[in-house]
Amino acid sequence: MKLRILIANDDGIYSPGIAALAKVAARFGEVRIVAPDVEQSSMGHAITSSRPLRLRRTPLPGGFEAYRVNGTPADCVALGAYLWKRVDLVLSGINLGPNLGSSCWHSGTLAAAKQAALLGLRGIAFSTSVTEKEHDFTALEPFVNQALQLLLEEKEMCLVNVNLPAKPKGIRWTRQAVKQYDGDVVPGQDPLKRPIYWFTIKPLKGEEEGTDRWAFANNFVSITPLRLDLTDEKELARILALQPGPVTTKAVSPRRKKSKAGK
Ligand code: MN
Repeated sequence: MKLRILIANDDGIYSPGIAALAKVAARFGEVRIVAPDVEQSSMGHAITSSRPLRLRRTPLPGGFEAYRVNGTPADCVALGAYLWKRVDLVLSGINLGPNLGSSCWHSGTLAAAKQAALLGLRGIAFSTSVTEKEHDFTALEPFVNQALQLLLEEKEMCLVNVNLPAKPKGIRWTRQAVKQYDGDVVPGQDPLKRPIYWFTIKPLKGEEEGTDRWAFANNFVSITPLRLDLTDEKELARILALQPGPVTTKAVSPRRKKSKAGK
């Protein structure tokens, strides 16, 4: 039976990145695209719960069966998996912009792969650097192909984050860089001199070896296996050793408030 590959992204269904990913994925199985109708970058793992969603067939280069959704990346995967029974694999991307280190928390690209993992499916996110010129995805194709080949063999990896530099010279297994945060707030003014704020990223210097940021900075494709369980195992073990049973707090005697009215 042919592998059923569902593809989503956060740049929107008409992004050149999703077409490039679909082209390579089609070598491995049957492809269906379900993606947001407009850009949803930095939406993280938001889902739409306050209004209904619509799915509309849309023509795409390559003749892929493709549907645009008025929702988030996670919506697209949830809806795609609901409507196309027996999905084997979910791919997301290729995002225009890397998703390294702390940006994994904000990324809609990664959230689409995470939604797959939540549904018990395998999810793989692909991102690449943005260049001033139109991106040359043909140069990345062999690396996307190689990464997919590798990851299809690693069936236990449920959630994977792949980042491709513009001109890769190889592939590295990495861990997520978490020691630095690249979120930045830049203040400015609107035309009426009222304050406005841009949420942006500041370039970070110094990458810890073995991390996704390190691999990417050294022109390697970074492949990071991720997990859904965010539990801090060390802290949980420590506190359970001290408080194994029901959690209690010491009785605190309520302080009497002295009201000004003297009541
Ligand atoms: Mn994006």
